[in-house]
Amino acid sequence: MASAFKQHAFQTDDPALRPIYDKVMAGVRLNFDDGLSLYRTGDVLALGWMANHVRERMHGNKTYYNVNRHINPTNVCVAACRLCAFGRKKDVAGAYTMALDEAFQTAASGYTEAVTEFHIVGGLHPDLPFQYFLDLISGLKQRFPQVHLKAFTMVEVAYLGKRAKLSIRETLTQLKAAGVDSLPGGGAEIFADRVRHIICDHKIDGDEWLQTAKTAHQIGLKSNATMLYGHVENDEDRMDHLMKLRALQDETGGFQTFIPLAFHPENTALEHLPKTTGMLDMKQIAVGRLVLDNFPHIKSYWQMVSAKMAQISLRFGADDMDGTVIEEKIYHDAGATTPQGMRRQELERLIRAAGREPIERDTLYRPVTRTETSVTVAV
Ligand code: SF4
Repeated sequence: MASAFKQHAFQTDDPALRPIYDKVMAGVRLNFDDGLSLYRTGDVLALGWMANHVRERMHGNKTYYNVNRHINPTNVCVAACRLCAFGRKKDVAGAYTMALDEAFQTAASGYTEAVTEFHIVGGLHPDLPFQYFLDLISGLKQRFPQVHLKAFTMVEVAYLGKRAKLSIRETLTQLKAAGVDSLPGGGAEIFADRVRHIICDHKIDGDEWLQTAKTAHQIGLKSNATMLYGHVENDEDRMDHLMKLRALQDETGGFQTFIPLAFHPENTALEHLPKTTGMLDMKQIAVGRLVLDNFPHIKSYWQMVSAKMAQISLRFGADDMDGTVIEEKIYHDAGATTPQGMRRQELERLIRAAGREPIERDTLYRPVTRTETSVTVAV
């Protein structure tokens, strides 16, 4: 389907963008300094033009979304990251841990729209045995064999391994054997130590996150990669993060999607910080698309930046709007005012209104076909 909007010729009032434009048009990889120029430009429309050009070169008009459900088995967490409004110490008000049956019921309760993915992440619980997580996964697989299980961030995997006294490889191997199909991209935050010490000093460091992702890719588990922006990081920290992701992707090819996550300060220890601006949200999508030339997809997570900004981002480099979600907890604890879920029809309407073609995908980006009575994934 041809784009409903014809792209005008490139123009910019920022001379620093000219040489970058030449590289983008020639398909030449951008370097660290190019990325800094992109972050620092005031010409956000020229930046968006370039990102949109690359996005259309890769995906034409297609915009992906999926029908998924989030399951957060526990919010009990030992880490106490300053960035977080979700984690709780055990035995404090609001702390919860689902019994396995409860988790299976939660999964079933959101199943009405023929979900193709369960997105499963939670806190670092100090007492739950590794077997609980293996049973959770194998129980979900048994009950919902056709649903893709995208489960556990690199941070959770590293913690489960540490508690079970297993190597990262063995931990991942056992999770995969139980039924984990791929990993989400959370916990990456910003890799730079200086920033990590402030926002999440009890979490694994950036190198451990990357090493865990590398091991997952090596054993055949795809993953996503996130970046939490809009807190105490600077442009150099953001570029350092992107360059590290790009280098690992060159090595493994295991990342599917880059997901920039706007920081939500409410109810966190960093509540004094302001929220991100629309300008920064669009820049982050666009810079991600331009710098991560080896990432197939850039996702605009509508729960984080609002459905309206996510819609605009489809012309700033994003080709994916995430999913229907159903009952999002983590960012709503941090004050997100977006709805906790959205129906397929509404997602499709937003995508079409941006002049794009909605494509329902499964977690591995295979097109999903629906009829009144069945759901089929093209393989
Ligand atoms: S961000 Fe994750 S690891 Fe950190 S406190 Fe929150 S739930 Fe725990």
